[in-house]
Amino acid sequence: MILRKKVIAGNWKMNKTPADGAVLVRDIVAAVGKQSDVDVVVCPPFTGLESAAKALDGSNVKLGGQNMHFEANGAFTGEIGAPMLRALFATHVILGHSERRSYFGETDELINKKVLAALKNQLRPIFCVGETLAEREAGSTLKVVQTQVERGLEGVSKDLAPTVIVAYEPVWAIGTGKVATTAQAQEVHGFIRGLLTKLFTEPVAQKVRILYGGSMKPANAPELLAQKDIDGGLIGGASLEARSFVELVTAAAAVK
Ligand code: PEP
Repeated sequence: MILRKKVIAGNWKMNKTPADGAVLVRDIVAAVGKQSDVDVVVCPPFTGLESAAKALDGSNVKLGGQNMHFEANGAFTGEIGAPMLRALFATHVILGHSERRSYFGETDELINKKVLAALKNQLRPIFCVGETLAEREAGSTLKVVQTQVERGLEGVSKDLAPTVIVAYEPVWAIGTGKVATTAQAQEVHGFIRGLLTKLFTEPVAQKVRILYGGSMKPANAPELLAQKDIDGGLIGGASLEARSFVELVTAAAAVK
C-alpha cells in the first residue's frame, strides 16, 4: 500500500496585506515549520507572495499562488505567469478554483492550459473540481466531476501526473459552513481515484494526493482526513488564523 503524504494548503483568497501575511506565516512556521509529516502550503494573494516567502524561508512550509496565466509573459494586463511565481519561490499554484470558474468565467479548457503550463514550469498544480448545489441535487455530481477531471488533466503525462494535487471542493460547501459528510466526500474522492486510474494507470493514481475543500475546520477534519482517499485539505476560512490552520496540520499529522 502506498502511503501518501498528507497536504494542508491554505487559500487566503483576497485577504491579508503583505505585512499581515508575514505575521501569519511566522506564526505557522513557529508552530509547524520544522515538521515533515505533512506538506504545509500557504497561498497568499500575489501581493503577499514576497513577504510570505521571506517569512517561511528556512522552514518546511511551502508557498503557492492562487492562479496564474498559461503564458509565461506578454501583453496580458493584470495577469502573472508561472516564471514570476517561481521567481518568488512558489512551488505550488491553485488552478480552477470554483471562484475562478464562476466569477471569472474560467472554463475546463482554460484551466487545462494552466495545468499544463504549471507542470512545464515545475509548479505543482492544486487543481480544483467540484459540483454546485444544483448539480448535486440533480444527481449529476459524478458526471460533473468526471468532465472537469478529464478535461482539466488532458495531455498531462503519466510521468508528471503524480505531481498534480487534485482538490475536490463541492461548491455548496465552500465558505458556507456546510461541510460534505465523510461518506459524500469519500464517494467522490474514490471516484476521482478511479478516474485517475483509467487516465494514468493504477500505480500513478495511487500516488496522486486528493484534497477535500469546503468548510474544513479543526472540528470536522479528523473524520474527513481518516477517509481512505482523502489526502489532506484545501482550506479557506480556517487558513486565515494560525491557530486553526496549525490545528488542521496537527490533525493531518495524527492520521495513521
Ligand atoms: C476554498 O476556498 O478553497 C475553501 C475550501 O474555502 P472554505 O474552507 O472557507 O470553505
